[in-house]
Amino acid sequence: MQFETLAIHAGRQVDLTTGAIAPPLYLSTTFEQDPDRGYEYTRTGNPNRAMLENCLAALEGGEVAIAFSSGSAATTSVLQALTPGDHVIAPNDAYTGTTAILQSLLQPWGLQVSFVDMTDLEAVQAAVQPNTRLLWIETPSNPMLKVTDIAAVAAIAHHTNALCVCDNTWATPLLQRPFELGADLIVHSTTKYLGGHSDLLGGAVIAKTDSEVAQRIRQIQAIGGAVPSPFDCWLLLRGIQSLPYRMRGHCDNASKLATWFSQQPQVSTVHYPGLAEHSGHAIAQKQMKDFGGMLSVQVGAGKEAAIALLSHLKIFCRATSLGGVESLIEHRATTEGPGTTTPDDLLRLSVGLEHIDDLIADLAYAFEQIG
Ligand SMILES: *Cc1c(COP(=O)(O)O)cnc(C)c1O
Repeated sequence: MQFETLAIHAGRQVDLTTGAIAPPLYLSTTFEQDPDRGYEYTRTGNPNRAMLENCLAALEGGEVAIAFSSGSAATTSVLQALTPGDHVIAPNDAYTGTTAILQSLLQPWGLQVSFVDMTDLEAVQAAVQPNTRLLWIETPSNPMLKVTDIAAVAAIAHHTNALCVCDNTWATPLLQRPFELGADLIVHSTTKYLGGHSDLLGGAVIAKTDSEVAQRIRQIQAIGGAVPSPFDCWLLLRGIQSLPYRMRGHCDNASKLATWFSQQPQVSTVHYPGLAEHSGHAIAQKQMKDFGGMLSVQVGAGKEAAIALLSHLKIFCRATSLGGVESLIEHRATTEGPGTTTPDDLLRLSVGLEHIDDLIADLAYAFEQIG
């Protein structure tokens, strides 16, 4: 089945007792004990979560999906499936929350971590140790939109008997197929494009096969209990139905904006993998179907000008996060806080689904105001 059809139908069925097309919401925390029906207590299993997990597994082409209360909970659970003393190779420009999970939670617990430029394959290979058990990929990266070669990193991981994990949040399963490139596990913050409407928090791990590590992660979900609420599962399953069409709009608007930015004298650099001059363009072209809805720009006049620009925007909302239908913009270094390596003249944009002419007019007006 094609992606558009899966997005609408996978995991769902017409309700057997009423014929309802939209799934009922199962708020019950406990279930009459009956091995045939398979539910007992909502932390270990819930019908809305089961529908969502079946849908997510189908979208990524994996055997199993395990849903969490946030992308960060999904990330933490993958890392908790390792053993203290294991070594992890992670990007030196991962999502700030992922870096914080590694440094503040898992390193004290006993994981060893090397932070590496994952786009530099020699550096990745050089970081491999006898106890390396997991290589983490996030591509395109945040907020520099660097592109990591998933197939090449997966090959390094498998050569050393380690897992290859890909955070596919920014690309979504529509644009990038990590399992086909060799990844073993895929992580999502479903808060972003999969949900798509800035109204739910969620995460997921999808496993290519129902392996020992997948079963361990499911056990962590059930025991640790960082599960999504039935309503968040319901909202997410609903949001996913329009994902393929939303992504086309995001990609189309972002690529038009990237071209427009690259013609503005006040913009010194545009970071968007769809631009031919972007350092990751060739690999992105090879491993992505389109280039996504995220981009960053650097304002030539510097930090103060970049921040001043934000106050003149009327459609772009000044906010963090991404992947919703509405356009957002933020001064990323401020969001990331002390220790950030993000350039201080950089603005990160989540390009929404408004009309492109209105988005360009909004930005053009703001640039005029800062001169
Ligand atoms: C937002 C995000 C996360 C964390 O997800 P939450 O749902 O906020 O916990 C992880 N990875 C990437 C790439 C993200 O954008």
